[in-house]
Amino acid sequence: MRVLQEIKDRFGSMVSTVPLRDATTWRIGGPGLVLDLPGVDALAEALSLAESTGVPWFVLGRGSNVLAADEGYDGIVVRLSGRLAGYSIRRRGRGYVMQAGGGAPLPSAAGAACMAGATGLEFACGIPGTIGGAVFMNAGAYGGSMSDLVIVVTAVGPDGSVVRLDGVDCGFGYRDSVFQRRRMVVAGVELYMPEGDVFDIKREASRLLDERRHKYPLDLPNAGSVFKRPPDGPPPGRLLEDAGMKGVREGDAEVSRVHANFIINRGRATAAEVRRLIERARKAVLKRSGISLEEEIRYLG
Ligand SMILES: Cc1cc2nc3c(=O)[nH]c(=O)nc-3n(C[C@H](O)[C@H](O)[C@H](O)COP(=O)(O)OP(=O)(O)OC[C@H]3O[C@@H](n4cnc5c(N)ncnc54)[C@H](O)[C@@H]3O)c2cc1C
Repeated sequence: MRVLQEIKDRFGSMVSTVPLRDATTWRIGGPGLVLDLPGVDALAEALSLAESTGVPWFVLGRGSNVLAADEGYDGIVVRLSGRLAGYSIRRRGRGYVMQAGGGAPLPSAAGAACMAGATGLEFACGIPGTIGGAVFMNAGAYGGSMSDLVIVVTAVGPDGSVVRLDGVDCGFGYRDSVFQRRRMVVAGVELYMPEGDVFDIKREASRLLDERRHKYPLDLPNAGSVFKRPPDGPPPGRLLEDAGMKGVREGDAEVSRVHANFIINRGRATAAEVRRLIERARKAVLKRSGISLEEEIRYLG
């Protein structure tokens, strides 16, 4: 496509063709044209160029909640790097403010907050995404979620416009945010965390990490929870287990025996196999419990 050539010419060394299996935790997916963008201006320019020329785009964090198509992606995959992937923490009043780029690695940012004595991100130490992906998804665990901490988000719209949104305007819900509905890229975030006792914070963070190691199949590639918790319903893991899905396979994709809401890649699983397994799981739960499960994972291509 001529526009893709134009993008390659304009963004030069920021552009590469990457096997998406190397860019996602499921380790599945064909090739994608990836733009690693180091600043808001480049991000705004890339989005508005793609949008105005009708080229599909997808912003990818660590790919820890994404199923990339076997055929790859026929558009541009945007990642945030450089200044958009850093973070810093400083004191404010009786607490701490973290300023982070959307591409900043969540586990290391959360770890740094814990070490500094800032409390609130302990739940995120074991979530292998980026800050931007976590805000977009309103990631959460163990009673905490990103929405508890966000003061301000700097986001870039599909037309390249840059907006600053206060936490209350981010439309956070369960695994939901305004950024999903308005297709906005989270470029930067300010989080507020109260001061706590460093010893207690570190102990709590490592307790939660231990719990994850026991509860989840972390030794094989996966993308975390496949389905969302149904409103007022039991957890999807229980529904899937009751529906007899534990250990069910499609090729190398398997519903984990450790936690039924995880699909693991036993080696060479394809996106097509994962999709088939997701459909089988959904049908099995609907038949058994009358509940229609909705995916938490997102599709790239
Ligand atoms: C082992 C494991 C454990 C997990 N545990 C949890 C958990 O406890 N709680 C939980 O909520 N999730 C969990 N997850 C899922 C996942 O890590 C989170 O949803 C995470 O926030 C996704 O971040 P990411 O950067 O990897 O986003 P990606 O997976 O790359 O993308 C997910 C979605 O976010 C969008 N996105 C990414 N970056 C941006 C950005 N800067 N701006 C706008 N949109 C963006 C993408 O377009 C996509 O739609 C887990 C995943 C794994 C593999």
